[in-house]
Amino acid sequence: MSSNRTVSLSAFTVTRPTDTRQSEPDRGEPWKDQAACRTWDFTVGDPWFTPIPGKKGRDRWPLVARSMCDECPVKAMCARDAMTYEERSGEGRFGFVGGLTPEERSALALLGKGATA
Ligand code: SF4
Repeated sequence: MSSNRTVSLSAFTVTRPTDTRQSEPDRGEPWKDQAACRTWDFTVGDPWFTPIPGKKGRDRWPLVARSMCDECPVKAMCARDAMTYEERSGEGRFGFVGGLTPEERSALALLGKGATA
């Protein structure tokens, strides 16, 4: 039960309400098994989607999220998955995911569009 919940944290759930993540089906991406955030106990809170009021940039996100993402072995895949979801859904960018703030992911998306234009 708890492993299902923690597996569902990362990038691909970025714009979805917290209460739906537990029912999110495993999409079979093996990289998720290596996600650093799998070890986090979400019963104590969700630092990836709970910004700190009054802070800006990376400081806006709790240190635990920044630390775990920065050390995560699948950070690049997570970021790519999040950005793909964000682009396709059109729901916006939320949370500190793949080691990137929403603003950083927006900037990367713009750079990517410029490269393919
Ligand atoms: S980069 Fe961060 S949000 Fe993504 S899987 Fe790793 S720890 Fe989780």
